Amino acid sequence: MPECLFCRIVSGDVPASRVLESPRTVAFHDINPQAPTHVLVIPKVHYPDLAALTAAGDGLLAEVAAQAHQVAVAEGVAGTGYRVVFNTGPEAGQTVAHAHAHVLGGRGLGWPPG
Ligand code: AMP
Ligand code: ZN
Repeated sequence: MPECLFCRIVSGDVPASRVLESPRTVAFHDINPQAPTHVLVIPKVHYPDLAALTAAGDGLLAEVAAQAHQVAVAEGVAGTGYRVVFNTGPEAGQTVAHAHAHVLGGRGLGWPPG
């Protein structure tokens, strides 16, 4: 059984509220939402962070980005605006070592972020 929480969500061992799925990605609601729309988009294959996902160089990062936009459309925030965030490393607050894009929207989002 994989140790990684998000790999376990991909396999279905851990339940998640799925929004969208594509052959290589899954999108599900964040369990601790920070905005009215807060969805995570992940590659089904395990990459520990954005650097590793980028290094794969097989178009998967572009698919994650495209899926993030589709999530915004599905959640009804594509027109009003949304933010896509890859927290990467400890100072950015990355807590799950499986690359993931946060899709946030549905309220005014402050800048700069905390
Ligand atoms: P990060 O802090 O950028 O690594 O983001 C990890 C995110 O995963 C956090 O926003 C958590 O709320 C979220 N999270 C943790 N466990 C779960 C879970 N079981 N289902 C959905 N989201 C989760
Ligand atoms: Zn994983």
